Amino acid sequence: MNKETLRKNLREIQNFPKPGILFYDVTTLFKNAECLQGLIEELYEMYKDKGITKVVGIESRGFILGGALAARLGAGFIMARKPGKLPAEVVEETYEKEYGTDTIQIHKDAISKDDVVLLHDDLLATGGTMAAAYRLTKRFGVEKAYVNFVIELKGLNGRKAFEEGTEVTTLLQL
Ligand code: IMP
Repeated sequence: MNKETLRKNLREIQNFPKPGILFYDVTTLFKNAECLQGLIEELYEMYKDKGITKVVGIESRGFILGGALAARLGAGFIMARKPGKLPAEVVEETYEKEYGTDTIQIHKDAISKDDVVLLHDDLLATGGTMAAAYRLTKRFGVEKAYVNFVIELKGLNGRKAFEEGTEVTTLLQL
């Protein structure tokens, strides 16, 4: 999927969710059938030979492509969710945000140490959310975990949140 098509289909919303913030709206990427299919196929080509057995999607925009990609790869799909949403026993990681902290949870029986995991979310900003999900995944004893985002906000240096050697890919850098 070429970057121009991606860029063209990504909507920018000024002052959302609060004044002064420029929000990249991925709903327009998913709305366009060609674009959605293109994204799934590009990610499939990138990861089809990695032996991925589980895709972890980050709530909530990471569920869309994460789920589609898991099906395309023949892998299972796992939801990483905010507290209070998952019904069974969970494990969790708490991480620092600009103001205060946040927590992400996964079901305790969601991943096994033999899994090869791909973590996916729509957008890399500071990296705090995904780095916490990555640490959480590693606590299951998995040896290999990959990380992917559709969009990377380069100015925020989010890649720095990950330990050295983490394989992070992004499709569009802004
Ligand atoms: P981080 O933890 O600072 O990297 O923030 C990333 C999280 O915030 C992801 O789950 C994104 O979905 C969300 N996010 C932050 N900014 C945007 C945006 O402009 N568009 C869509 N999602 C965003």
